[in-house]
Amino acid sequence: MATNVTEIFGANVFDDSTMRERLPKETYKELKKTIDEGKPLNRKIANAVAHAMKVWAIEKGATHFTHWFQPMTGITAEKHDSFITPDGPGKVIMGFQGKELIKGEPDASSFPNGGLRATFEARGYTAWDPTSNAFIKEGVLCIPTAFCSFTGHALDKKTPLLRSMETIGKQSLRILRLFGDTETTSVKTTVGPEQEYFLVDRDYYLKRKDLVYTGRTLFGAMSPKGQEMEDHYFGTIPSRVKTFMDELNEELWKLGVMAKTQHNEVAPAQFELAPIFSTTNLATDQNQLTMELIQRIAKKHNMIALLHEKPFEGINGSGKHNNWSLSTNLGDNLLEPGDTPYENLQFLLFLAAIVKAVDDHQDLLRLSVATAGNDHRLGANEAPPAIISIFTGDELAEVIQAIINDEDYGSKDKVFMNIGAAVLPNLPLDTTDRNRTSPFAFTGNKFEFRMPGSNQSIAGINMILNTAIADVLEQFADLLEQTDDFEFTLHQLLRETFIKHERIIFNGNGYSDEWVEEAERRGLLNLKTTVDAIPYLKTPENIALFERQSVLTGEEVESRYEILMEEYVNLLNIEAGTMVNMADKEILPAVSGFEKELADSILAKVSTGLAVGTDYERETLEKSSALLNQAYKACRVLDADKTRLTEFDTIEEKALFVKDVIIPDMAALREPCDELETITGDKAWPFPTYGKLLFGL
Ligand code: ADP
Ligand code: MG
Repeated sequence: MATNVTEIFGANVFDDSTMRERLPKETYKELKKTIDEGKPLNRKIANAVAHAMKVWAIEKGATHFTHWFQPMTGITAEKHDSFITPDGPGKVIMGFQGKELIKGEPDASSFPNGGLRATFEARGYTAWDPTSNAFIKEGVLCIPTAFCSFTGHALDKKTPLLRSMETIGKQSLRILRLFGDTETTSVKTTVGPEQEYFLVDRDYYLKRKDLVYTGRTLFGAMSPKGQEMEDHYFGTIPSRVKTFMDELNEELWKLGVMAKTQHNEVAPAQFELAPIFSTTNLATDQNQLTMELIQRIAKKHNMIALLHEKPFEGINGSGKHNNWSLSTNLGDNLLEPGDTPYENLQFLLFLAAIVKAVDDHQDLLRLSVATAGNDHRLGANEAPPAIISIFTGDELAEVIQAIINDEDYGSKDKVFMNIGAAVLPNLPLDTTDRNRTSPFAFTGNKFEFRMPGSNQSIAGINMILNTAIADVLEQFADLLEQTDDFEFTLHQLLRETFIKHERIIFNGNGYSDEWVEEAERRGLLNLKTTVDAIPYLKTPENIALFERQSVLTGEEVESRYEILMEEYVNLLNIEAGTMVNMADKEILPAVSGFEKELADSILAKVSTGLAVGTDYERETLEKSSALLNQAYKACRVLDADKTRLTEFDTIEEKALFVKDVIIPDMAALREPCDELETITGDKAWPFPTYGKLLFGL
């Protein structure tokens, strides 16, 4: 049935038009002030808004409400309360007060807090974020909120993101004023996150403990066919998947998510969904919703969506391209090079700030995408390397060179920086010759950060990007506001910045080994794993940065560091445990059974007097027995080392042990098991193979 998209779009969102329609004029105006300018909301207005929201939600069939928040687990949390309020003996009314809208106290003491909350004051509270609209999901009115401790510390991903948007907005506005812009009143960062995922048949999925417990395959030999034919990329979408996508789009549209493009990705059974970009906090909320809906709706079609960064070895993993820019309240994109020399200069200043921020804070950008899962992707010739660099494209690179050399760009008789004379060349917006191997690429009017993993919340990534860039913009604004000769100082600043930070610009092939060497010569960081990257979060410089920009306090940084490290160790501990379990309870017994069949068969043949010289059974049995032994021993080593994890006192020691001992142990167990899979009969193998998972839809 054809859907009237314009009619359903945003139907389940308490959005601006709904507010305008349903709120008394004065209330609407006050609420808008809160939304646009961050003015506090008084109790009377809050009550009026809550009432209108409740009436609207009940009309839409909602019975419950929840403060929807984003704890440090990276997924969203909700605790439902019904609207039911007692009203005399045996009677209820549907009630919802302003105070319930504004503040909630979920008993959320079990979320990771990295030591920020002593248990006696474990209760955090949630506070309404009116800049993100309330919506209805599964009969529940969801109110987007920030989650804090009673001591005022951020316990979630949303709060620091909002703080970072505030600081970058403020600093960008100072820059605009320097260029004579008096009309813009606010600047916000925008994001369009492209989401990749795999779909597998649910029946197969349920037979694999690794997928169920860890979201990725811990065993599995490559199927005879993989992604080498590249016949899946942009191919026809299978009809079962198409039906799923249709439903997904419709549900996303109802929630006001502008789901725009969908296609097959490079790997078999891999897909992508991209929305139209929006303000970062909204994009963050909506990406969380998108991930949730992808998973929920896939189940309805008897499929499971794998959002893991690397579900299959030997096949591309999944990323989440974070397309990032800055936009004014008047709708101007500040990374649009513009048509006039003045616009060009302003653009170049923002560009210089980004180049400097990315170079100065390579460590932070790298760690913003550091997860155990992403370690399998970065640097594996399918995703950018673990080295941070910027792709500008050739045209922009020439402009930057001209600035560095103080040379004319384009025409001969004018010096480029002679304001009023120079205009940037038209930068190509088309996607054909884009560099797909760069972690941070300029794509004409935005930057595309290609390192994030598919199941990461984009809150942390953007919090770090915004903070790093805001800090540089602040330095630039401080300098330029002081000067008597704006044009001269600007010229100097651009030139010095590009000279100093030119090393971070790389327009070549990021997948090549030469680049790794070249990057080392340039002195760029190459933090290969999560364990190498996370400690940079709490260097004195970085703590000072977060505090200076009022995004995180030292204590909050410390707690986030603890959470990231613990998450890493816990995850690997689960993966190791799952491997031991699958080997001991499934693979080893299955192979042993298969070997018995072979042995029985040999005996039977011998008893008939047949020669068994070089036949299938004997050679396979010999090979299998050797591998079985190897697997069994590797399993004992992994099991024993896993137990040793409890012996360490600090999280740093545990993480290092995981990286240096547990992960190699896991590889040593996987290897003989995968080889066993290739010689064990299909009927004997205990769980579905890559072939079924990847081509079974
Ligand atoms: P691709 O990178 O696959 O070629 P597109 O160029 O269509 O795809 O853009 C990818 C994403 O970038 C989309 O989500 C799009 O909305 C987003 N995007 C476009 N302009 C901006 C912007 N100014 N700020 C943030 N994201 C943007
Ligand atoms: Mg892209």
